[in-house]
This record gives sequence, C-alpha cells and structure tokens, in this order.
Amino acid sequence: MPKKRVLVTGGAGFLGSHLCDRFLAEGYHVIAMDNLITGSMENIEHLMARPDFEYYHCDVSKYVHVPGELKYILHFASPASPIDYLKMPIQTLKVGSLGTHNLLGLAKAKGARMLIASTSEVYGDPLVHPQTETYWGNVNPVGPRGVYDEAKRFQEAMTMAYHTFHGLETRIVRIFNTYGPRMRLDDGRVLPAFVSQALRGEDLTIFGDGSQTRSFCYVDDLVEGIYRLLLSDYAHPVNIGNPAEITIREFAEEIIRLTGTEQKVTYKPLPQDDPKQRQPDISVAREVLGWEPKYSRAEGLKPTLEYFKKKVLQKQEA
Ligand code: UDP
Repeated sequence: MPKKRVLVTGGAGFLGSHLCDRFLAEGYHVIAMDNLITGSMENIEHLMARPDFEYYHCDVSKYVHVPGELKYILHFASPASPIDYLKMPIQTLKVGSLGTHNLLGLAKAKGARMLIASTSEVYGDPLVHPQTETYWGNVNPVGPRGVYDEAKRFQEAMTMAYHTFHGLETRIVRIFNTYGPRMRLDDGRVLPAFVSQALRGEDLTIFGDGSQTRSFCYVDDLVEGIYRLLLSDYAHPVNIGNPAEITIREFAEEIIRLTGTEQKVTYKPLPQDDPKQRQPDISVAREVLGWEPKYSRAEGLKPTLEYFKKKVLQKQEA
C-alpha cells in the first residue's frame, strides 16, 4: 500500500515542521512547502534524507502545483509574529487570502481534506473573556495588526465558502499563543524575546505595564489537538490552546526565575491594538475532540529553554 500523502505549507516553520514530524511518525508521506521568508531549513534538515519526505520551495500566494494524490492539506504558511507581519504586511495578506484560495483549489482538484491555521487574533482585542468560538471579535481592520487578523478572518470565510458551496472537507483551528523548540530567537514574540534577553544578560522588555494577559500552550499539545481535529468530522472553528492565563509581568518574573538571571525588567510602550487579555475557552475541543493540554508551563518551558540555550550558544560561537 502506498503511503497517504500530506501537504504541509509553512513546513519549514515552527509549527509546520512539528506537524511534518508528527505525520511522518504516523506513517504518512509528507510534502513540506515553504518560501523560507520566516521558516528555516534547519527545522527540517533532520528529515531531508528520508524517502517519505519531500521539500518544495514555493510561494503559495503565487501558484501551487503538487503532482500525484493528496489526502490532506494543512495550510500553515504565514508570518505569525507581530514584528514579522508588521515588516511584511502585503505578504501576510497575500498568503492568508490568495494562498488560501490556491490551496482550496488544489484541495478541490485532489479531493483532499484541508485544515487551515487560524488564530486567536480573529478575536482581536476581545470584549468577551475567555474567548469562545461563537464570539465574532473586536478587530481594527486598518490598524497594524489588521493585516494578519483580517487575512485570517478572510481565510476562515473563504474556507467555509468552499465547504458549503463546493462540499469540500475543511477544518479550522484557532491557535492561541504556542511555544516550544524551533521558535526563532529573534521572532519578537514575548517568550523568545524574554529568554534571549535573559540569556544575553539584558533586561527583559515589558510592553505597557505588563498587566495584559496571555495563555501559553506547549507545541506538542497543539499538534495533538490539530491532529485530532483533522481526523474529526467537525467543520466549524475550534480553539486550541492552554487556558492557563498569566500576566506578561508575571511571565517575565517566571522567565527570570527559570533562567537564574540577575537581570531586571524594563518598560517600553505598548504596541497599538495589543490585546489586553486572552484565554481560550476550550469546551468545544474537550467535547468534540476529547482534547485538553497535558503540559503545564513548567513542563513545557524546560525543553524550550534547553533549545534556546543551545541556540544562543551557537550564535555566540559563530
Ligand atoms: N511583549 C512584551 N515584551 C516583548 C514582546 C512582547 O511585553 O519583548 C508583550 C506584547 O506586547 C503582548 C504579549 O507580550 O502583550 C505577547 O506578545 P507576542 O508578540 O508574543 O504575541 P501576541 O499574543 O501579542 O500575538
């Protein structure tokens, strides 16, 4: 029996590369696609020699071609950290809109099931807490974050339209803040920022007064949730995240404690439209997928800090 084939866009990125690992472990043939504007070959170099793995260098916003059959398509290509999508606003809008359209067309042609990576950013700066999937959000379309938020909202709308109009099998995961090995040290997100500052002997930069909250999910938990969602028959959006909520100030203190640094915190202005609070309501994931996160922050941060320490050392030696 030939292996079932899965396409992962953004396959050389943080989440995409972990998904490639998971599908290979489950016995699939994996095709990873990336244009490497934020992804890195380092994340998949351990897979390159495998006969059940292929890498296509491709910008999915332009055109997507994959020969042969496809069972599943997972669309994870996109700049995903605020500093990345502020630097690349047009690419971010294009990969969420044109890229999604191209991939939906590919899924239709192949009879494949398509799962899209949506985000808690569809809720914007939320007025409902914790966020349920039925909440429609509070997004500023013309603010700096609008390029990501609206691309993802359009992506959901387009995916739903292919589902209802063409009968395409689709799945929508709304991903909340996720962390783990293979995050880029310089991606500007709060965890890599704090950890690299602590390890380099710099003060940790808190934006605003640090009273804003986030809820951090370890990557293995996220991948398990996505895997279950893909195999389920649920076509509506599902939040996947860890409900353990923490203020950014407390999080900075936690990183200072865990890294054993002598550094302190310093305050910088809060970026425009920065959400004040964020926590996933995961009742749907619990009921429909039987899923909930297994890793506490303490457990997830251990391997993550190890990874970052190695990366900082490599950088200093280079
Ligand atoms: N943040 C911070 N210092 C940093 C980077 C981020 O205080 O060096 C804050 C940021 O303003 C936000 C939170 O940490 O309130 C999470 O930011 P991140 O960029 O990780 O992701 P977001 O959840 O905002 O997309």
